[in-house]
Amino acid sequence: MTTPLSPDGPRVLADIALEIDPAEVLRFQGYKKGRDIPGPDVLALFDEALALGGRLMEPRAVVRWVAVRRRAPDGLEAGGVTLTIPAIGESWGKVEHVAACVCTIGDALERRVAELWEARELPLAAMLDSVGSGAVESLAEYVNDLLCQEGLARGLRVTNRISPGYGGWDVSQQTELFRLCAGDPVGVALNAARFMTPVKSISLLAGAGRAARVDHYFSQCARCWMRDCAYRRAPARRTVHR
Ligand code: SF4
Repeated sequence: MTTPLSPDGPRVLADIALEIDPAEVLRFQGYKKGRDIPGPDVLALFDEALALGGRLMEPRAVVRWVAVRRRAPDGLEAGGVTLTIPAIGESWGKVEHVAACVCTIGDALERRVAELWEARELPLAAMLDSVGSGAVESLAEYVNDLLCQEGLARGLRVTNRISPGYGGWDVSQQTELFRLCAGDPVGVALNAARFMTPVKSISLLAGAGRAARVDHYFSQCARCWMRDCAYRRAPARRTVHR
């Protein structure tokens, strides 16, 4: 079985022109979509934080594809690592490969947030923090889109991303994910509690296979930036790439 990509190991993606979704940023501010309407003062603060964040963030990701050696209802074995993921067999079906990734926007934004807190510029500090959270979510979506394109080019369907600490996958599995794809090439480390530094980082795993299950709970196409994709399964609602 050949791996669809990165046969020589991890690959770094840089120079990514992220599009940040304002609704996502406002969600981190506690706004409920379709219910809470931000006022002009909040929108002005958002614009200020977005401009500041745009100068501070450096979106990068490291990606590694590996062949799956063994599948079980609650786990996968790939690249010499055993991943324990509840119900993954049912969720993903017959995946032949997995892509492990670590995405980050770097630490300059969170350092600026800390300075703003220190200076008691609290509204801007909170909004800038939310911009950073929205940006790293967009980055993870962008990487998921890219993995989908890479899989499609080889006749493989690519699943939505999952991350340790979410949806029943224990956060302790960060260690295994980092064994598959270490964050060092993009400056991301795991601390003793298995949290990543810089904080605005996301680790993720996606599966790929000719018969992989996709779209049964959310269509990645709905927010994929690749407008002319011949394999699109749902209309795009918004994009995470300029
Ligand atoms: S439009 Fe859909 S099928 Fe095409 S690359 Fe994006 S997520 Fe994949």
